[in-house]
Amino acid sequence: MLSVNDAYKLLINAQRELSTNIISQIDELLEKASEAYYNTDKLIMTDEEFDKIVYIYKAKGGIVKVGAKPTAGKGIVGVKHRFRELVGTLDKTNYVFEAHVTDATKKSVEKWLMTNANLLYKQGIRKISLAISFKFDGNSISAEYVDGKNVSSLTRGQDGQGMDLTHVFKDHTISSHENVGIKYEVIISWENYKKLMEDLSVSYANPRSLVSGKLGDDNAYDYYKYMTLVPLWVKSEEREMTRMEELEFIEENFGEDNDLFLDMRVYEDIDISKASIKHFLTELYQMYTKYAKERDQLPFMIDGLVIEIMDTESRKVLGYVNDEPNWATALKFPYMEKKTKVTGFDYTLGDSGIITSRVWFEPVEFNGTKHEKQSLQNFKRYEELALGIGSDILVQYRNDTLTYVVPLDTENNRSIQPHPYTSECPVCGGEVGITETRTFAFCNNPVCEGKAVGRIQNYLIKMDIKGFKESTLGKIHEAGYLNSIIDLYNLDFDKVSAIEGLGEITAMSLIGTMQSKVPYDYEILGALGIPSFSTSKAKELCTVFTINDLMDMSAVEVTSSIISVEGFSDKTAKYILNGINENWELLQFLLGREHMIYKEYADKLNTGEKYKIVFTDFRDEALQYYVEMLGHKVTSSVSGKTNILVCPNVNGSTVKLAKAKDFQAKGTGIQIMTVEEFKEFVGYDK
Ligand SMILES: [Zn+2]
Repeated sequence: MLSVNDAYKLLINAQRELSTNIISQIDELLEKASEAYYNTDKLIMTDEEFDKIVYIYKAKGGIVKVGAKPTAGKGIVGVKHRFRELVGTLDKTNYVFEAHVTDATKKSVEKWLMTNANLLYKQGIRKISLAISFKFDGNSISAEYVDGKNVSSLTRGQDGQGMDLTHVFKDHTISSHENVGIKYEVIISWENYKKLMEDLSVSYANPRSLVSGKLGDDNAYDYYKYMTLVPLWVKSEEREMTRMEELEFIEENFGEDNDLFLDMRVYEDIDISKASIKHFLTELYQMYTKYAKERDQLPFMIDGLVIEIMDTESRKVLGYVNDEPNWATALKFPYMEKKTKVTGFDYTLGDSGIITSRVWFEPVEFNGTKHEKQSLQNFKRYEELALGIGSDILVQYRNDTLTYVVPLDTENNRSIQPHPYTSECPVCGGEVGITETRTFAFCNNPVCEGKAVGRIQNYLIKMDIKGFKESTLGKIHEAGYLNSIIDLYNLDFDKVSAIEGLGEITAMSLIGTMQSKVPYDYEILGALGIPSFSTSKAKELCTVFTINDLMDMSAVEVTSSIISVEGFSDKTAKYILNGINENWELLQFLLGREHMIYKEYADKLNTGEKYKIVFTDFRDEALQYYVEMLGHKVTSSVSGKTNILVCPNVNGSTVKLAKAKDFQAKGTGIQIMTVEEFKEFVGYDK
């Protein structure tokens, strides 16, 4: 198949009379491109490139077949359209004013309208009526009604081959009993698009490709209820309708609030003069710039405006070229898509444990906003895209915060290996699992700190709160009652006991356990899951500062205060600062509950007597470190100044113990304690 650039070259250099060889190559390329556009989520070229090729092709006498050829095996039939005029498509324009045209392959409404006005004037016509309406972005079908019932619905198709969708729209009725044909645009609203994507966990570039994809599906009827039929044109078997009569028919049968009428504007009896036409174009321009910017706020997708000459007489004079009426044009909005290259990937972990990937690309700009990354819906989408660093992609603009990434079928992309999905959880580094349907990637580590249940479980372990099984927590989480640590304290007895497999006893013990624990503040700080910050480090910090002290300080003060404590690096200080900021709300909640302030306890010890302590017959570095932190001195030999001798067994037989007993006998006041007694004495609870 031709590349886009080769197609340009071929067409530009070709004679006016195109050879059959060129025609067949261009036809093949355009057909593949529209098939990709309508039916899949992988494009061959941008809309802009497509329109450009079509323009040059037509200029050299080529005839473009519009619409996708239906996919083989999807109910293709020979379609005979009873109302031939309903099959037509519209020629495209890209600008309102001729002066704005910068590209020779693009046209303006002004030129289209002036050319037509001149033709009509020559036929003695002095006034025209014009209408502007939305160009809905969906799939076009033509349907036939007998006695109000839909008896046939066909896609336009190509060369007499289309899809028979009668079974999909068989339930649709109109109140009129006239035998009519109606041309519809079948659309899906943004709301239903989002709903369907979530429910089916499928990926379609936009509502239009979702409509095409589902119309070709074997169970297309199931999607009928999500689709909207927007009536555009009406033809009657019994009478010749003027355009105004068509619109009246639409109003009677579809109501005056149907989507076509949402902002349809009719300008009657405009003089065929430069001034009147310029005036019309100025109003068109205002409407065009408004919707080019605000179309995302409409409930459905539109890709331009349709401008039509309404009068029957004028329409007859202007006629058709192939299937395209000369009396109407589709004014397309600026292309909201840009070609760019993939620069990298990264991954984030959601509360539920699902890992989301993001693709980064060379920045593109839409409406002055720079876009350089986009989250992908799920693992399935990541696999489908099969992108690697350097892949060509098309970035489509949705709104200021959302773009959509579409892969391109280019030579370059075929030579790029897909980037492998991360094998490590972005939070805990644990193994990554893939669901059976290959839809989602998730962290396999049950106590991963990035996951709601994992984080909660970690918190409980660090707070030394026992009695919660992982499976129990999982059940409460699945029931929707446990998404955060705060939820742990607000568990509702009735709700928890009603969860299958839990019951009243479990609920009571869980709630009781949570209520009865009165923690030290350092336990709270240590349980937040701050990296490189254990509960014992939190205890050291909390002998100097309360959490409230830290929360009241500026970021700079927090950092310098933490570094001033022995054994704390600036890296740890940064982690703690981030941890406090990230858990601000949780800390406020936990500090609002009953808790003990460790600093008050440590201060009491510190202001008391400083002891000289000797350990004998055992080693416990942590204990030694702890008592030194409190300001006491641990020495290696017993002297008259020693205050406490600590030993595993007071009836033991070490030299130090014997010496201590000697001093005791002399009345120096030395105390002899077991390790357990000593720990209790200094408040060491590990
Ligand atoms: Zn993890």
